[in-house]
Amino acid sequence: MRPGIPPSEQLYRHLLDEVSAFIYSTDRNGRYTYANQLVLKLLGAPNLEAVLGRSFTDFVDIGEADTTLRETDRQVLEQGLTVEREESNYIHAIGELRTYWSIKKPLRDAEGRINGMLGISYDITEVKRLRDEVHSQNQLLDTVLNNVDALVYMKDEERRFRYANQKTAATFGLPVESIVGRLDSELMPQEAADRFWAHDQKIIATNQGLSCEVALPDHRGQLRHYWSVVVPWTTRDGQRAVIGLSTDITELHQLKEELQRQAMTDVLTAVANRRAFFRQAGQELARSRRHGLPMALIYLDLDHFKNINDCHGHPVGDTVLQSFARFCQGMLRQEDLLARTGGEEFCILLPNVDLDAAHRLAERLRTALPAHDCRVPHLPELRVSASFGVAALNAEDAGLESLFARADRALYAAKERGRNTTVTLS
Ligand code: GH3
Ligand code: MG
Ligand code: MG
Repeated sequence: MRPGIPPSEQLYRHLLDEVSAFIYSTDRNGRYTYANQLVLKLLGAPNLEAVLGRSFTDFVDIGEADTTLRETDRQVLEQGLTVEREESNYIHAIGELRTYWSIKKPLRDAEGRINGMLGISYDITEVKRLRDEVHSQNQLLDTVLNNVDALVYMKDEERRFRYANQKTAATFGLPVESIVGRLDSELMPQEAADRFWAHDQKIIATNQGLSCEVALPDHRGQLRHYWSVVVPWTTRDGQRAVIGLSTDITELHQLKEELQRQAMTDVLTAVANRRAFFRQAGQELARSRRHGLPMALIYLDLDHFKNINDCHGHPVGDTVLQSFARFCQGMLRQEDLLARTGGEEFCILLPNVDLDAAHRLAERLRTALPAHDCRVPHLPELRVSASFGVAALNAEDAGLESLFARADRALYAAKERGRNTTVTLS
């Protein structure tokens, strides 16, 4: 115990020295009547006695801040207000600008007259620096996220959106504020919400990101395609979540589909080409085998087509080919596949059709052909006929090749028999 100081006051002083805040009191003229250790250290004073009766400005050059500081003190001492505010002081001793959160209260005597001021200041320099840094990082992030050409969002394990950038909001046709907190099913059709959720759950369960192409109608009902990168995330409150970055690739997707369609389509006649035919025929063969269903093939070739080109020119030949393809297509069912497999030769794949039915169809085509306006308008005398080879899948066929070879043999035989004929080989 230090002599002269009552034990309880000594205890209070000790406590005030332990608090990590600057605590002091002054008289009406701003002269210290008390200062804790932190204040003494700040002022560079060796002990309390060295500051008693002196004011802050005797120790610290506060420059510009002087008038504000005086004004604050005046409000407290003359108007009896409690002032709380942020203050910045340049501290010469350490050569740094420090920021404080200061609370200044009037002290009163027994009669209630203001006789001094109590001050408590917390050094918030670090807090302020971090706060400013977070603020500027948030601004940067906001600028990036709202200008990036992608939908960026966060969805938690309760399927609620925690974040949505402006592009996401625009896709849903809503302001950002009405997306955050909403369930996925409130923003998109239930089926789509469930499909995305199944995907998100996998990401949460494995803690591994996934990328894939997804499709979702926008608020106008227009289907948009996205390349979506979704990664796992844990929110500040410990909830599992996903962050999604979806780039709109609708135009690219349409271009890809168009290219795929073109790669499978014959340019002249707009029916399937040879590549599309063999790809689909392979799938149909597998399906027929799986379900034990019949499948037939008609291989046909226009008769003496060379003559048409020779007599009327290649463009007329082209027109006949286009017209012929339209004629055949018009005679087929939705599930039948017509393809131009060569110059003036075509194949028709007939799922779920047996040999007899295929033969009847070939005959219907052959006999209907002369009546069809396959001809070119200014050449009414032009006659077109075709020869047909028909075959159907049988138990011995190892694959498409043998079926195709049988139809080819049948077609050859039809040509041999004088053309404009159907030959069927079982
Ligand atoms: P066949 O009755 O024996 O089938 O006689 P053909 O004249 O039809 O048979 P060939 O194979 O000798 O001739 C086929 C002709 O088809 C030759 C070729 O110039 C023509 N051709 C092939 N592709 C096209 C095309 O895209 N446009 C036109 N105009 N003609 C084509
Ligand atoms: Mg021919
Ligand atoms: Mg030919």
